[in-house]
Amino acid sequence: MNVEKQRLLIARLTAQVMQRRRDFLHRTSATLIKNHDLVAAEELRSRNLLKNHALAMSIQDNGWRMFLSMLTYKVALYGKNFVTVDPRNTTQTCHACGHIMSGKEKLTLKDREWICPKCGIHHIRDVNAAKNILARAKAKFVSMH
Ligand SMILES: [Zn+2]
Repeated sequence: MNVEKQRLLIARLTAQVMQRRRDFLHRTSATLIKNHDLVAAEELRSRNLLKNHALAMSIQDNGWRMFLSMLTYKVALYGKNFVTVDPRNTTQTCHACGHIMSGKEKLTLKDREWICPKCGIHHIRDVNAAKNILARAKAKFVSMH
């Protein structure tokens, strides 16, 4: 296979992967909006924070940006509500007692489950973060209406 043909093949495969990713985000955002009255998500991190992350992180962020924009316009289509919240400490805050993990306690990406040192509750990392995001979104939603 010559170089020109290989280049075309790679371009075609890349386009397929991107299209599949977009389709997935379309289906997921539509399902979320259709089935829930309020959808909550974290805002994109600031540019400053992004600078400290690896390329993989910024690719992930582009996907997230696309997902947020899909949610934003579908909310109007289905007459539902979409609220974004400040992502600061959504992972590090205990949903039960409000304790914020800091210093040596601070959770790393490897910590999928943890026990709050203040109230002793066992958390699944992403479930705890989701509860914090929803609580913030509800408070913001109430203040907006
Ligand atoms: Zn706690």
